[in-house]
Amino acid sequence: MSKYIFVTGGVVSSVGKGISVASVGTILKSRQITISVQKLDPYLNVDPGTMSPYQHGEVFVTQDGAETDLDLGNYERFIDVNLTAESNITSGQIYSAVIAKERRGDFLGGTIQVVPHVTSEIKERFKQLAQSSQAEVVIIEVGGTVGDIEGQPFLEAIRQMRNDVGRENVLYIHVTLLPYLSSTQELKTKPTQHSVNELRRMGIQPDIIICRSDYPIAEGIRDKISLFCDVNRQAVIPLPTVSTIYEVPLVLEETGLGQLIVDQLSLKADQPDLSQWRKLVRCLEECREPVTITLVGKYVELRDAYYSVREALHHAALYHNKDINLLWVQSEDLERDDSEALLRSAQGILIPGGFGVRGIEGMVKAARYARNNEIPYLGLCLGMQVMVIEFARFALGSEKANSTEFDAATPYPVIDLLPEQKETADKGGTMRLGNYPCQLVEDSRAAKAYGQSLVYERHRHRFEFNNKFRPQLQAAGMLCSGLSPDGRLVEVCELDNHPWMVSCQFHPEFGSRPGRPHPLFRDFVGVAKNILREGAQPPLPLSSSL
Ligand code: GLN
Repeated sequence: MSKYIFVTGGVVSSVGKGISVASVGTILKSRQITISVQKLDPYLNVDPGTMSPYQHGEVFVTQDGAETDLDLGNYERFIDVNLTAESNITSGQIYSAVIAKERRGDFLGGTIQVVPHVTSEIKERFKQLAQSSQAEVVIIEVGGTVGDIEGQPFLEAIRQMRNDVGRENVLYIHVTLLPYLSSTQELKTKPTQHSVNELRRMGIQPDIIICRSDYPIAEGIRDKISLFCDVNRQAVIPLPTVSTIYEVPLVLEETGLGQLIVDQLSLKADQPDLSQWRKLVRCLEECREPVTITLVGKYVELRDAYYSVREALHHAALYHNKDINLLWVQSEDLERDDSEALLRSAQGILIPGGFGVRGIEGMVKAARYARNNEIPYLGLCLGMQVMVIEFARFALGSEKANSTEFDAATPYPVIDLLPEQKETADKGGTMRLGNYPCQLVEDSRAAKAYGQSLVYERHRHRFEFNNKFRPQLQAAGMLCSGLSPDGRLVEVCELDNHPWMVSCQFHPEFGSRPGRPHPLFRDFVGVAKNILREGAQPPLPLSSSL
């Protein structure tokens, strides 16, 4: 039977709960304990797929096509697992399921209530994941902060679990923030005490408190939290901010958290082996030459909107022993006449996914700049559609070429709705989602990057390359280097006469891992690193004879 670790957050959101959960998973996995992870999101949306990236950040897509919280991306990258739809539960899903059961008559005669019906549905999802994953430990993160109204049924459900599966099989971790007061130059524990009180009010006594802070946490502070929150001193885990998120598992291991969890849950465990992580962090800390990549997107004000893209670039840079100097360009800013300067230092241009017409012309301009100036270009989903639009405008000699998403009346609809999408009216969960196979053309840049001819990649789109224009665009120098196995859908395209202009209709960023960069990102950064741009010069040879 699986054991459960429930992680709640206190004081403020965005305190690093997701990274803490991912890191707890990492240190347990390093002891050969099998892990699965689940994120509970208290909002009423069924999934984040219909939310603006400004509201929610990136939508992470699992292999089985679920649109999920970006924390799942961190779980996958840290623990190196491929999760499924079962790993992200929202209040929207829970309430829809309970109401559907009520309509079916499953509860005939009864009054449907938050306790026990909603809480039972929630617990059912915990148990389903435990069952399907067969993991020894299931780590479950409750989104939001203790005290949120929508979070209450989830807290009640995790409280009930202690009796359902036995106290010895459940562990509660609370992640809080210790704010720093500059006037008195001290960290304050009172908000932590309050949030633990709030948890206790719900019937949950945390076993472990992870204390986030931007400053070192003195021993006296640990004592105080231990005393006021009634938690063993060694279970008050300091987690000061570190330079890279990949250091967090090492910091937590150092505090003895791994052993503490093993002891408290009586787990069978090997000695931890974090050598790969140590190596990774050592490399990250080394001083490396930067490669300047310009990301042209429409949601750049909120960097979390491109979380996995940013991580994938860093994984790729590390492979080449380089760092990434990531420049964020708002695509609308490129629509101004004098905007080319924004691209002048780019050694590579990346256009990520997105929806809607805002900023599209700026992206087309960036793609044109990349093509004309032989700057390496990586297009992801929308980034591929933009590359096709730009190339079609050049090849067909008409600035009217477009996607029907942005101009329904274009005479050259080079990107158009997938046929199956034409009948689809609902917006939620109806895109082409999740893993699909893609056959690569031999000797193409894409095939060379992957080193294999059949690959599976995760999708999230409604529009696609319009096959009607394939012959003309191919004749003008565009190679459709990745196709669905039936040849119907263009999944990857690249330009013949360009150092490296490659785009894909899928999202390779979701498959990248630290220490195992995605092949397209790896080659993109690999080519970009050799491009010399304005203001840059090759490092001078440092020899004693100079
Ligand atoms: N808006 C485009 C589509 O729906 C691209 C989607 C994306 O970039 N994820 O096809």
